[in-house]
Amino acid sequence: MSIIVFGSINIDLVATAPRLPIAGETLLGKNFFKAPGGKGANQAVALTKLGIPTDIIGRVGTQGFSEELINYLQAAGVKTDNIFLDETVSSGVAIITVDDKGENQIVVISGANGRIGGEDVERLSRLLPGKQALLLQLEIPISSVIAAAQAAQKAGVKVILDPAPAQTELPEELYPLVDILTPNEVEAAQLVGFPVTDEESARKAAAVLLQKGVKCAIVKLGAKGVYCSTSSESFFTPAFSVETVDTTAAGDAFSGGLAAGLSQGLSLRQTVVWGAAAGALSATKSGAQPSLPDKITFDKFLQERLRS
Ligand code: ADP
Repeated sequence: MSIIVFGSINIDLVATAPRLPIAGETLLGKNFFKAPGGKGANQAVALTKLGIPTDIIGRVGTQGFSEELINYLQAAGVKTDNIFLDETVSSGVAIITVDDKGENQIVVISGANGRIGGEDVERLSRLLPGKQALLLQLEIPISSVIAAAQAAQKAGVKVILDPAPAQTELPEELYPLVDILTPNEVEAAQLVGFPVTDEESARKAAAVLLQKGVKCAIVKLGAKGVYCSTSSESFFTPAFSVETVDTTAAGDAFSGGLAAGLSQGLSLRQTVVWGAAAGALSATKSGAQPSLPDKITFDKFLQERLRS
């Protein structure tokens, strides 16, 4: 069975420098590198690396980095036939400067991601029948997120929404379209309007989100664990203890592990464990897509950790 991701595809252009430049200043930097990113692309790569056939529907722009981004996805094994080449813009780009202390400055250009709309939702609707889940995030226009979720609901396909990057509010009509909502602490706090920092506040936040209409709320608490709640069950799953190197894309890895578990017909508790395992493994490596675990590493980790 297979999964569809509908969302953003970005390239990160990263410069390292001794310090961040001030306004108007030209500064000599140290290094430059490029890395593929975007939450949609990261989720698709996370699933594919776990051995789940995955399509991505999105846009890249021929005015910058389109071929490169498609090549990255294809090299990871993601099906790219449904990525539209937009000739009017560049692809989504994040221009990042990082200084010696690890502080950063980031300018994000949505580019082609910002133009995802009705035609893309039509391509999605054609692919939805028979799929097990649709993964969504918030780096594309919210109207398209809603339209995609509506199409999935109509086709009887589960909607898993990672409400990232954080927003102070989501349109109320979106909540009842969501089967599983997976905010982290910051995103949960923004959505419910009070701090979310531990199991108790996560429980309260999940209750508010269920009240708004989602069928399952999964609040991710980083290295502290995950709180999960539906109308019939609620539980806390501790995080796996690992040596943390870099938590970039841990949330995307979590979404991949969770959806992979669902596609295998596992229980909700087991799918949350799969999400937590993928998130923990990605925290042990630096970078976004390179940190996402492959199936062999993932299976071995679960086998070792669940035995004890
Ligand atoms: P996001 O990346 O969206 O901010 P989190 O940081 O909460 O999300 O990470 C997602 C999941 O990955 C967590 O719920 C947890 O299960 C796992 N995870 C993240 N960081 C760590 C860590 N340092 N140690 C173990 N597991 C982690």
